[in-house]
Amino acid sequence: MFEGPLQDLIDELSRLPGVGPKSAQRIAFHLLQVEPEDVNRLIGALGAVRDGVTFCRICCNISRSDVCRICADSGRDRGTICVIEEPKDIQVIERTGEFNGRYHVLGGALDPLANVGPKDLTISTLLQRIGGVLPDRELADSTKDTPLYDDAPEITEVILATDPNTEGEATASYLGRLLKDFPDLTISRLASGMPLGGDLEFVDELTLSRALSGRLKL
Ligand code: ZN
Repeated sequence: MFEGPLQDLIDELSRLPGVGPKSAQRIAFHLLQVEPEDVNRLIGALGAVRDGVTFCRICCNISRSDVCRICADSGRDRGTICVIEEPKDIQVIERTGEFNGRYHVLGGALDPLANVGPKDLTISTLLQRIGGVLPDRELADSTKDTPLYDDAPEITEVILATDPNTEGEATASYLGRLLKDFPDLTISRLASGMPLGGDLEFVDELTLSRALSGRLKL
């Protein structure tokens, strides 16, 4: 245990995800030694992250402005939406270079045990995007010039890319049922494949059963 501000800093740092007490101590001592301007830059970044970040009104991704970089990109296919749980999932899919549509960030997954229901996710926003209708008046943006949602592009495909765990699967099947009401919409779920370079006998049962039920025709 240290005294005063140093211990306070260590305590605060150890609250961060992925930072244990030892790392917190190491970061705190590092900050004691660096140049004041480096510390000030960090303080500035910490302050700005709360005030300078907003959510895209189309896809609910974290954004600097009203519409995020991806939704504003006219080179992307506006008809395809990839539904993911968290903003960080976008980076993962972007890295594959295989997807050129737009995203929808749910803000989590359905989890009855943690009291996360459909209302806690951005499901109604998703439905409004697909339906192309404006939301209830109380949800609508007060400024007339900015429609709350997209200027109604024709959505033709929704890819459900929630996590391949119990909550993610439950969320995907819930959304799948809801989206069946849109007859012209293609709905797909990310294929759950076998790990490449793996051996069949080491694949867990859940992965194997998903791979079997989602098998591809050759
Ligand atoms: Zn967006």
